[in-house]
Amino acid sequence: MALLDHYAQQLDQLKQSGNLRQFVANQQQGATIQITGQQMLNLSSNDYLGLAANVELREEFLQQQPVERCYFSSSSSRLLTGNYEEYEQLEASLSQAFYGRSALLFNSGYHMNIGILPAICDSRTLILADKLVHASMIDGIRLSVAKYVRYRHNDLQHLEQLLLKYHANDDIERIVVVTESIFSMDGDETDLDALVQIKRRFGKVMLYVDEAHAIGVRGEQGLGCAEQYQVINEIDFLVGTFGKAVASIGGYLICDPIIRSYLINTMRPLIFSTALPPLSIAWTNFIWKKMLTAQKQRQHLQQISNYLQNSIIQKGYSSPSTSHIVPVIIGESQAAVNMSKYVQTNGFYAMPVRPPTVPQHSARLRISLTSLIQIDELDRLVACL
Ligand SMILES: *Cc1c(COP(=O)(O)O)cnc(C)c1O
Repeated sequence: MALLDHYAQQLDQLKQSGNLRQFVANQQQGATIQITGQQMLNLSSNDYLGLAANVELREEFLQQQPVERCYFSSSSSRLLTGNYEEYEQLEASLSQAFYGRSALLFNSGYHMNIGILPAICDSRTLILADKLVHASMIDGIRLSVAKYVRYRHNDLQHLEQLLLKYHANDDIERIVVVTESIFSMDGDETDLDALVQIKRRFGKVMLYVDEAHAIGVRGEQGLGCAEQYQVINEIDFLVGTFGKAVASIGGYLICDPIIRSYLINTMRPLIFSTALPPLSIAWTNFIWKKMLTAQKQRQHLQQISNYLQNSIIQKGYSSPSTSHIVPVIIGESQAAVNMSKYVQTNGFYAMPVRPPTVPQHSARLRISLTSLIQIDELDRLVACL
């Protein structure tokens, strides 16, 4: 028992500081979520286009699937016997959408980031990463042997200063700049156009851009901020997840064919883990094609996002958001927790985000919009704030 006491004490400490995490059972239907009997509008969902909530889409997909092709397991890594035709088909769909560039699939966005970064970096690589990149990229950087420096969040001038400092160093062969396009906690975005301009001036730079929150949401076809800024061909490692707007599971990389082959030979989470079920991959391909033409959902999402950003500022709060992820900055943790409880009582499921996830004194209510939400619902939410 003494061995377990150590963990029990740590848990007690978390509980006392109000930071204990627990699973909460829920039921979801359309735009709503039900928790311990209370029905609320779901303002914490990553189903940005409402595709995961759509029952007709599931029916349509399942009707097309003969049961003998419904493989619920691939039973192997793709390098052994797991490479079912569904994988090739999905990669072909991605490749076609992304101007013929190569595509490679991963079991999740997390696998992708913890796998690619260690594989492409050696001791002569420098990684320059935005201060607020997702934990999966931080973990990928930690697993790599690269040197690592962070630049201030979304501060491309600071990035440029660091490049001027390190670029001439002969011990550094390549510099991988790692960022997200839309950031998950602030809902703000990188100026990809400016980033590409910087890359053009520094020959050792490769760009690694995670579009987890932008795929499906930005660009005419939903190909992300890279499509919106017309820089798809300029991003060396264009990555994203199917787990959010694309209503499925898995990660993808758009890259040069050399990088694709290199990763198949070197990336450990790709080599040593059973590939996703072929049925899952078939569903991703089905949803991917629906996503490309979901302009109506994208326009509506854009409209309600602008509306909420403005309403919050009019109400006297600050919010850095330029996207469908709209934090309401409150300040102290307890105030953010209270605000979250209050809006939940009023039928809105939005969660507080506290330090250390975000900087001190910037605790917030994090609102994540989907295209299933209507303007009048946002009016009622803002009235509660
Ligand atoms: C959600 C997220 C991931 C992880 O993707 P999963 O497919 O859920 O593992 C990676 N990067 C960013 C920026 C994310 O927001």
